[in-house]
Amino acid sequence: MSQDQQLDGFRDSTRKWVAANLPEGLKGKVLGMEGETETSLGADLQTWRALLAGKGWGAPTWPTQFGGGGLSHPEAKVISQEIAKAGGFNPIPLLTGMGTTMVGPTVLEYGTDDQKERHLPGIASGEVRWCLGLSEPNAGSDLASLATKATDEGDAFVLNGSKIWTSGADISQWCGAVVRTDNNAKKRDGISFVMLPMAQEGVSTKPIKLISGSSPFCETFFDDARADKADLLGDLNDGWSVVKRLLQHERQSQTSGSREANTDKETLADTAKRYVGEDSEGRLADADLRVRLANHLMDAKAHSLTVGRITAEARGNVEVSAAASILKNSATDVTQTRSELLLELMGSQGLGWEGDKFSEDELEHVRQWLWGKAISIYGGSAEVQKNIISKNILGLPETTQKG
Ligand SMILES: Cc1cc2nc3c(=O)[nH]c(=O)nc-3n(C[C@H](O)[C@H](O)[C@H](O)COP(=O)(O)OP(=O)(O)OC[C@H]3O[C@@H](n4cnc5c(N)ncnc54)[C@H](O)[C@@H]3O)c2cc1C
Repeated sequence: MSQDQQLDGFRDSTRKWVAANLPEGLKGKVLGMEGETETSLGADLQTWRALLAGKGWGAPTWPTQFGGGGLSHPEAKVISQEIAKAGGFNPIPLLTGMGTTMVGPTVLEYGTDDQKERHLPGIASGEVRWCLGLSEPNAGSDLASLATKATDEGDAFVLNGSKIWTSGADISQWCGAVVRTDNNAKKRDGISFVMLPMAQEGVSTKPIKLISGSSPFCETFFDDARADKADLLGDLNDGWSVVKRLLQHERQSQTSGSREANTDKETLADTAKRYVGEDSEGRLADADLRVRLANHLMDAKAHSLTVGRITAEARGNVEVSAAASILKNSATDVTQTRSELLLELMGSQGLGWEGDKFSEDELEHVRQWLWGKAISIYGGSAEVQKNIISKNILGLPETTQKG
């Protein structure tokens, strides 16, 4: 049987399984971007999560011994497509915070057998949420300047310092953190990556509110917090290699273009016509907007075709690479431009914050537009991605960024 035939067979059985198991009450719904938990979303979601976890479909490409599905990347894609076609969604990646996209793949690569056995199944099943303590008040783009100190105390490291912008820290069970383990070494050589439970006396969090109204991240304080030595990921003082890899996984997960675009009820062109009207030839009435909209649609198409081509060229073995920086930046551009255009074409209807003069979609869009400002910052800012592209892909000489 050819690979294509095998994949068609897998698609058929996946479609049947989804039709038989996706709870009716979840059809057409999506899990919010931040902060929602399985229990806050009710019985249907709990059932669906458990069913997906039972098949290893929370992390379809991970080995089955760690709770994954043992499947290929094309098969994983088929699962997402068939769940989406049935009007559903896979809640596990969102329920695990940074678990399936970043922590898990890095543990698979750098973890000991014991770490893989202890940490991966909880992520793959969607039961354990992870946050990442990387940024600090004085260490964002220049992450290597981090100052949180880890002192060796026998079986554990004792952590003191503070992190900032820690997504989901207040609702996570575990944290992956970069800490300074050698003050005398060069900046990047004295850093280690540790994993620690959030439910302990030495860890506290304080949510930060965003302009969009949500509160997706926190300040996180370590006051004599403990990380077991068994939870040092990678070698002591080699945390820089671990975190660089983790950040590549992060960028890779941010290349899709627009979360919003995947759940569109109508096309952007149709929405534009609804708000702006048509001319006598049935075209969008505003000629200038028409040109900018067409340019954006071409950019969005080119981006999605490029993502598709790179995936196909990798023949399903999707490896993260420096190219993720290019795709992260073009995904950011496509998403933010789309958001700006939508806001503009809605006119005064795109200025609502609350009240019944605005539709639910209009109010949601204003929040999405504000939230979208973060995309060019998180996962490494757009400027920092350009530095990586210039140095690691184009081979240009160093500018302001070292290493
Ligand atoms: C929604 C969101 C979620 C986040 N989640 C997390 C999380 O879970 N865990 C975590 O640890 N962090 C998280 N962050 C933090 C994020 O990684 C940092 O905000 C980011 O790395 C930028 O750091 P900074 O905010 O300190 O800005 P700075 O580093 O101070 O940068 C300020 C400006 O200077 C520019 N700049 C800085 N250095 C250079 C340079 N060398 N060349 C050119 N321009 C430069 C930047 O592009 C930016 O425009 C999150 C951020 C956001 C917005």
